[in-house]
Amino acid sequence: MCGIIGYSGPKNPLPILINGLSRLEYRGYDSSGIAILDGANLIVEKKEGKLQVLKDHLEGKHFNGNIGVGHTRWATHGVPSDLNAHPHTDNKKEFAIIHNGIIENYSELKDELVNKGFNFTSETDTEVVAVELSSKWTGNLLQTVTNVAKNLKGTFALVVTTTKEPNKIVAGRMMSPLVLGVGDEEVFLASDSAAILEHTNKMVFLENGDFVEIIDGTYKIFDINLNEIKREVQDIDWEISEAEKSGYEHFMYKEIIEQPEMIEKTLSGRLVENSIGIPIQLNEVRNFEKIWIVACGTAYHAGLFGKDLFEKVLGVPVSVELASEFRYREPIVGNKDLGIVISQSGETMDTIAATELLKENGAHVLALVNVVGSSLARMSDSVMYLHVGPEIGVASTKAYLGMLVAQLVLAKHWDIENKLNITFEEIKNIPKLVKESLECETEIINIAKGISKKNDIYFIGRGLDYALAAEGALKLKEISYLHAEALAAGELKHGTLALIEEGTPVIVTASQSHLLDKTTSNVQEVKARGAFVIAVGDDNSKKMEKISDQFISLPNAHSLLSTIISIIPLQLIAYHVAKLNGESIDQPRNLAKSVTVE
Ligand code: GLU
Repeated sequence: MCGIIGYSGPKNPLPILINGLSRLEYRGYDSSGIAILDGANLIVEKKEGKLQVLKDHLEGKHFNGNIGVGHTRWATHGVPSDLNAHPHTDNKKEFAIIHNGIIENYSELKDELVNKGFNFTSETDTEVVAVELSSKWTGNLLQTVTNVAKNLKGTFALVVTTTKEPNKIVAGRMMSPLVLGVGDEEVFLASDSAAILEHTNKMVFLENGDFVEIIDGTYKIFDINLNEIKREVQDIDWEISEAEKSGYEHFMYKEIIEQPEMIEKTLSGRLVENSIGIPIQLNEVRNFEKIWIVACGTAYHAGLFGKDLFEKVLGVPVSVELASEFRYREPIVGNKDLGIVISQSGETMDTIAATELLKENGAHVLALVNVVGSSLARMSDSVMYLHVGPEIGVASTKAYLGMLVAQLVLAKHWDIENKLNITFEEIKNIPKLVKESLECETEIINIAKGISKKNDIYFIGRGLDYALAAEGALKLKEISYLHAEALAAGELKHGTLALIEEGTPVIVTASQSHLLDKTTSNVQEVKARGAFVIAVGDDNSKKMEKISDQFISLPNAHSLLSTIISIIPLQLIAYHVAKLNGESIDQPRNLAKSVTVE
């Protein structure tokens, strides 16, 4: 969840580290720090709070040296504070380490070290590793790090430097992501490629159990027993402009606005029969008897959309599962099952564990992920990339849309009997429909003004619209901190209707024409209790327009495409409510972009 950056090469590391840390800010953090090695001189500077606090503290300072590491911390052990911030050092200040993840056996290790007379200055699990390194020093950094790593339980991406070998960085990973950027006589390390994209497009995605030794801008990769391994250098086709705000006030807003172009990329090359962009063709998918869609948060909501589509076209049961629950129960998975795992980052810890469970039980796993080369992409049997470019805003927008579109494209390819009654031509139209839908923004700003001070907001819908309602409510919660709840419209009367009173905002999407009458009745029920109804629809939902207090009109389209574009006003509502309330939109409190812990 936190960010790691490292540099070895001829340039001054400080600006590279600070720049990299700013690019990692979106992942969520509570403190930051850097270490720079200048021969025997180890400089460590770290501060609680936003990166700006560290930047102000470093203002006017200049450090020599060709090796540096930087960290943004998302506290798991010990409060956010200067002392608990990374890098951590050993008692003699010879080793500096940064760590992402959790060392589960840290307290046993700490007790042993305390008994041997070592001191600790922080409450973190990480400091134990720094002290272990110094207590187990063998004379070689790579060897010492791998020896220590053999006794670590939990998850980590670790990056280590030492004054004892001042030309080296050693890093290793176990579950937490770590990428190597390969430049000319320089090597970068980062927890995600977007942080170093401005320096190089050539990336090596380290795998679990990989350790890398970087010496003067060159690198070698080893396993934990020091056998050398070769990993492919991949060219990442993301543009640096895609990872920048490009004049927009917030990443989230930019990512909402750029959805038409990004969805073009999701669709690119995939709208022809037997496209190679479709990882599982119809003849193969027919062999599966059950589908499990497993994901977390927004990706889970996207999965709710896929369920109905896949059940309809394949005629097999589809179960949508929250990865954090699925991994700890005993689902009846077999070798005739298909697992579809969905994640923007491809590093979501719970989804990775769920994928392992699916694979152990013989299922074929298809990953729908955005980040090329990510853990889920590598561990799955088949991959379909979303290709929506780097997503920086913590509240997912374009990746969610990419997930909906990717599933629709898959379903279309598997729909031999044309049960969805949709053509490739119609699907090709999505970017244009999304663009037209964005035109509702002025109206949304007005709506946002009306609801920004409310405490509770309800999102309702039936069928695929319920999947949308769930995502609309999550967006609002994530960045505006208003209490929002999504309900299947028919469920209201089974309890939640009791909470509707004069002026309670209820937002309803009605893209499914066959459910329009039913949803309209549910809207009448909330109106009768005084709700303020905001409806999203098109010319087919005139009925809804008549009874709602505000109506957001979207372009007319095939009902599946209507569902897809109905998320646009919901994204904009969340964005504008948060903006009106002055919230920190790209880095909402308590949240991180890529959830690499349990
Ligand atoms: N567990 C470590 C700590 O609390 C690292 C947390 C992180 O991944 O930022 O300091």
